[in-house]
Amino acid sequence: MVNSANKKSEGLSASSGSYGPPHSKLPQIVPSSRCFSCDVCCRFPEKDSFLRPFFTREEIQAAIRTGISPKFFPDPEGCQIDLIPNPLPGAQGYICPCFNAENGHCKIYEVRPLDCQLYPVALMRNEQGQGVVVGLDMKCPYVQEHRSDTAISAYVQEVASLLDSSEMLHQIDSNPSLVQRHQDDVIFLYPVEGLTRALKGQRK
Ligand code: SF4
Ligand code: SF4
Repeated sequence: MVNSANKKSEGLSASSGSYGPPHSKLPQIVPSSRCFSCDVCCRFPEKDSFLRPFFTREEIQAAIRTGISPKFFPDPEGCQIDLIPNPLPGAQGYICPCFNAENGHCKIYEVRPLDCQLYPVALMRNEQGQGVVVGLDMKCPYVQEHRSDTAISAYVQEVASLLDSSEMLHQIDSNPSLVQRHQDDVIFLYPVEGLTRALKGQRK
């Protein structure tokens, strides 16, 4: 079965980390054990799913050094990765080419892109399309199960603050496609003020 359009895995690393992540690691809230029993992330029903992960130029280079073919990145300066058909017998839909469908692990876990590190946090436009917000994606079963936990809304606030840091602002400002379109099934929305200003060209 292919789940609703989704992505990301708390998989084991296929890399020892010798290449180093292209950016700081974000705190993760979903336990790896929960992700290992979930088949939502990294799989997509359509080849052109708008949720397939975006890689910056540096993240593309890191993925290629880890063994991912450059052919999956149509724009080496930054792009969403091309998906491949799910190779498992009888499977439908598509997977990220960095995903090992047999063991359910991300092959580039240590250098997976910011877009993947963020999930189940969604970085997206607000409903009016003018501002940038973060929230939690209800397509993630862990979010559905824990939506009433105070820790989970506090986590979104923490990520919003981290994204407003200068390092993150620069990375996202340089790659505005990291900000997705508004999604109605994202909850606990927090504004990312610095990023909103940056994307409007109002740096201060
Ligand atoms: S949808 Fe949520 S629980 Fe499932 S693999 Fe992704 S982050 Fe983990
Ligand atoms: S890069 Fe890794 S975590 Fe991200 S979608 Fe692909 S397999 Fe999943």
